[in-house]
Amino acid sequence: MKKILVANRGEIALRIMKTVKKMGIKTVAIYSTADREAPHVTYADEAVCIGEPIASASYLNGDKIIKIAKKLQVDAIHPGYGFLSENAEFVKQVEANNIIFIGPKSESILIMGSKIAAKEAVKHYNIPMVPGTKEAITDVKEATAIANKIGFPVLIKASAGGGGKGMRIVENEHEFEAQMSRAISEATHAFGDGSVFIEKYIASPRHIEIQIMADSLGHTVHLFERECSIQRRHQKVIEEAPSAVLSPALRDKMGEAAIKVAKACKYIGAGTVEFLLDDTNNFYFLEMNTRLQVEHPVTEYITGLDLVELQIKIARGESLNLIQADIEIKGHAFELRVYAEDPLNDFLPSIGTLKVYKMPEGNNIRVDNGVNEGAEVSIYYDPLLSKLIAYGDTREDAILNMQNAINAYKIEGICTTLGFGKFVFQNAAFREGNFDTNFVNIYYEPKILQEKAEREAKLAALIALKQYQKDLKQVRLPNS
Ligand code: ADP
Repeated sequence: MKKILVANRGEIALRIMKTVKKMGIKTVAIYSTADREAPHVTYADEAVCIGEPIASASYLNGDKIIKIAKKLQVDAIHPGYGFLSENAEFVKQVEANNIIFIGPKSESILIMGSKIAAKEAVKHYNIPMVPGTKEAITDVKEATAIANKIGFPVLIKASAGGGGKGMRIVENEHEFEAQMSRAISEATHAFGDGSVFIEKYIASPRHIEIQIMADSLGHTVHLFERECSIQRRHQKVIEEAPSAVLSPALRDKMGEAAIKVAKACKYIGAGTVEFLLDDTNNFYFLEMNTRLQVEHPVTEYITGLDLVELQIKIARGESLNLIQADIEIKGHAFELRVYAEDPLNDFLPSIGTLKVYKMPEGNNIRVDNGVNEGAEVSIYYDPLLSKLIAYGDTREDAILNMQNAINAYKIEGICTTLGFGKFVFQNAAFREGNFDTNFVNIYYEPKILQEKAEREAKLAALIALKQYQKDLKQVRLPNS
């Protein structure tokens, strides 16, 4: 492999290119007209403008990407996450053009891209699943009967859903019919597929996922878990590895279940098997993500492995050269997703110019960044600016490193989730490891953040005033 095209943008494009360069392979970036000066463009050996900012004209334009790859004699395409990374049709086309797709085969993507097909595929492997329907359901009467049997509250989920979208919690039978027709029409609009199914709503779950890695020679290992329970709108904001609550025995059990899920769809490459863990330590299979995950750096910290390097080696047909017993957990790592969102206003997207943008540096701190000072944050793409990752020998050390890094991260011009991160890492329940996916609903009050910001602004003004008075005195000194 001499040249790899990274079909993505932002922090993940840059992060992938760093490993590609390290391996002595040339990099090709693609970019939209909105990203002309983005770091992933300047970092690449070659860069090609692919179209207008709107994703369908640029980062989702598979035909054009393949054309560019052929023209520049690219050997392989790395899709990153999002955009075309889980598009089975794109993968087929890449392969048909004799280009290597750095990821699984299109068949595995097709199965795991549908939550219903995924459940069907793993059902013979003795994997615990959330009680619910195994098939798409359209008949409201039948669905109501099933919901009653499962017991309320239930979740209506879109089979093609993703990114926390397409889910509805239904508290009781009276609401069921109306919620179901809304869910079907939403799923049809958002995903072009109206299939929905019903799951028991687990009351206080923790989101625990297992990273797996499988080579094309039939060898699959897991790289332990990540806990991703700190979420807003069913989407992750803070992740950690390892989880504060998994015993070694439970870790082994979940790891083995994840490997079975991977084998059920003949998986090759890096993948993530997501589970919910209830308050009595029962775990249930949720879905499998067939790509590199946003939060993969915490796994890299605790295992010392470069996941992108492993992906590339697997895509070259090499053996993993790793046995399960060789992989060990060392230390603890956290990731805070730095989103351009306003945590004081329902985490709504925040757009504008990055007037000040200074990243923290230091031992045990990693910033996977995708933007520059002066950049315009637009509405076109996912609002993830960067990921702040902190490591420590223990969970407490990692928390301390994360807090120092958040304080040293300076962003002005737009709102971000940094302040929310500060809140979480100070929260007693979080620090004790005593939390679940309801953390934001239970503990987070924007008011606290607001008051804190005001206190800090006041303090900064007082310090400035004191300095001003001191300066005045010094200026007057010669005359006195
Ligand atoms: P998506 O594909 O949209 O990310 P997932 O099925 O992976 O959807 O679920 C995302 C999040 O939604 C989970 O991490 C969890 O917080 C919540 N969730 C999903 N299913 C359930 C359930 N049955 N009970 C309670 N919470 C759930």
